[in-house]
Amino acid sequence: PHRPYIVGNWKMNGTRAMLPEARAIDRAAGRYPAVQVALAPPFTLIQAMAGEAQAIGIGGQDCHVALKGAHTGDISPAMLDDSGASFAILGHSERRADHGETSELVKAKAEAALGCGLGVIVCVGETLAQRDAGEAEAVVKAQVRASMPAAELAGEIAPGRISVAYEPVWAIGTGRVAAVADVVAMHRAIRATLTELYGEVGRGVRILYGGSVNADNARDLLAAEGVGGALVGGASLTAESFLAIVSAA
Ligand code: 13P
Repeated sequence: PHRPYIVGNWKMNGTRAMLPEARAIDRAAGRYPAVQVALAPPFTLIQAMAGEAQAIGIGGQDCHVALKGAHTGDISPAMLDDSGASFAILGHSERRADHGETSELVKAKAEAALGCGLGVIVCVGETLAQRDAGEAEAVVKAQVRASMPAAELAGEIAPGRISVAYEPVWAIGTGRVAAVADVVAMHRAIRATLTELYGEVGRGVRILYGGSVNADNARDLLAAEGVGGALVGGASLTAESFLAIVSAA
């Protein structure tokens, strides 16, 4: 139902010297109207990138649950919105690991972000130990159940404002991409969990794959059943490598 959604997560990379790269991505994205393209740079670059972007969405990589207050170093969803961001990536495994973010916190962040009019990309994914133990599906389903916004917010789903990113932790930044069959199976499990949570409207949630997506593997992954797009880390840092993925979508 939706265009494929290709999102670049710059993580803690990028200074103003990289603005020309973002500009090149934005210019080229206009040539792929059948693909929805977005970048999530560090907070420090959001305003500059959002001020110029014409064809791509600009988003944050996290937000706080509160709109303002005594939370030194945090950024609120209202501030993201104010700086020109249109979405937030939430619950990335690096935030779950580095900052101890729980699924309950991620859910609260997602609800706060939706309340500010932002789209959300909620990240889930198993570790290698969990996959090896045969627990991958159970872990990911539990993360989806606990991290996704409450069903009362299901009205936000229809306009395509809610996505899930399935990012197996062992595939992130490792060059080790998940097998297409495993991605298809997991996306099916996530879809089932979403319809359990939201009913039929749960079908409107896009499910993206993330983890070592590059120009060589993007075509097969994006053509796979149930894969609505990709969340791209390393390969989103240059226009050349990111646009190769966009053109494969
Ligand atoms: P890589 O594409 O660098 O593996 O990172 C994936 C990711 O974590 C995107 O959020």
